[in-house]
Amino acid sequence: MKALVFKGPGQKELVDCPMPVIKESTDVIVKMVKSTICGTDLHILKGDVPAVTPGRILGHEGMGIVEEVGEAVKNFKKGDKVLISCITSCGKCENCKKQLYAHCSDGGWILGHLIDGTQAEYVRIPAW
Ligand SMILES: [Zn+2]
Ligand SMILES: [Zn+2]
Repeated sequence: MKALVFKGPGQKELVDCPMPVIKESTDVIVKMVKSTICGTDLHILKGDVPAVTPGRILGHEGMGIVEEVGEAVKNFKKGDKVLISCITSCGKCENCKKQLYAHCSDGGWILGHLIDGTQAEYVRIPAW
């Protein structure tokens, strides 16, 4: 699949990447329909976010259609149209219970940051 990959400060490239696969039973694979470019992506491209390492697929928002779900996923099924948030939250940890989703102990802003993001034909989303 094609994806926009961070190659280091000031460098990005549209390249062929392997298709994402389900790694955890709570994962969902989404076929992307639309993605976004936000100011954070521009900071990443400038090299302002060192946690984003070369090779990372950019993008942390978008719309898509569910392609595949892990066996523990109950809230989504193949064919669902979904809005993908920059913030991943489990809904169960202490911070999520306080509605501090960006501080989820097993989530927060990880898409296009610590895991591959949405500026691609397909993306793996931890969906719980
Ligand atoms: Zn953003
Ligand atoms: Zn949480």
